[in-house]
Amino acid sequence: MITLFEVRTYPEFSWSLSRHKTLLNCTRKYYYDYYASHNGWLYDSSALAKDAYRLKKLTTLEMFFGQALHNIIHNVIKNYLSSGTIPTEKELIDKLRYLLNLAFIDSTQRKTFWTAKPKHYTMFHEIYYGGSLPPEKVKDIQNRLAVCVTNFLKSKTFQDLTSSKQMRFIESERFRTMDLDGTKVFIVMDFVYRDIDNGKWIIVDWKTGKESDDDKSQLALYALYLQKAYKVQSLDEIEIRNEYLLTGTNRSHSLTKQDLDRVQELSGMSVQEMLRFLEDDEKNKPLALQAFPKNEHPKKCSRCNFSELCEMY
Ligand code: SF4
Repeated sequence: MITLFEVRTYPEFSWSLSRHKTLLNCTRKYYYDYYASHNGWLYDSSALAKDAYRLKKLTTLEMFFGQALHNIIHNVIKNYLSSGTIPTEKELIDKLRYLLNLAFIDSTQRKTFWTAKPKHYTMFHEIYYGGSLPPEKVKDIQNRLAVCVTNFLKSKTFQDLTSSKQMRFIESERFRTMDLDGTKVFIVMDFVYRDIDNGKWIIVDWKTGKESDDDKSQLALYALYLQKAYKVQSLDEIEIRNEYLLTGTNRSHSLTKQDLDRVQELSGMSVQEMLRFLEDDEKNKPLALQAFPKNEHPKKCSRCNFSELCEMY
């Protein structure tokens, strides 16, 4: 008999920077996110698993906007590479607006559908917990919409890709894993290509929010991945570029060996910390819920997906 997918009692252990940040943020949230929600998509799972899985899927307006734009960009690039065609600015803006409106309708009129199939519908955190989208947030997203699409089409990366320069597409929007000291590490890179003329591997991060201090650990993980997956010998061959779609600017970063050593060290220490919350390392079986203390900052809780659960348990 063919087994389509394996039902595991406990999730497979893996490390990512976002997992590390969640643990630092709130250990209870870490438990809900990485353990309680496991198997919550199955019909006969516990009420806690189903609730945690459902709440994990909540998204904010900004997060949804960023993700929708990333998906659109991914499709534009994919279509361009296969057919050489580029949609008009208006078509892209209309598509983005359609997705935002659909998500709003899901959140306001399809709550029962979302409750039953949270992966297939959208629920905004703002509406789930607050009853509506704050008008200033809506206005902000409306302003960002056309600006980000225009800036994407004018971006250095897209111009490079559609110019006659020697470019080779490598990867886009895929979950990738690599082995770091025996641990499976997850990274997501928006877009990777090779500039043959300049002998560079370019990793692109599309930013749809305001500029902030770059997270060097994230960038160093990207570089580590390229070194391992594509055997890139020298860090000088790797350019990491942030494309700021709100301002139409970009910034490139290079990394040193120390940056890479530091992130490897961080990952190792973080994994050790995570192992402290396991009853059985082999199975990745967590300790009981009470061993994951709640954080004591009400501000963090107000933004958290799981506050409903925290009132119950
Ligand atoms: S509501 Fe607060 S305590 Fe509960 S998981 Fe979220 S951040 Fe942690």
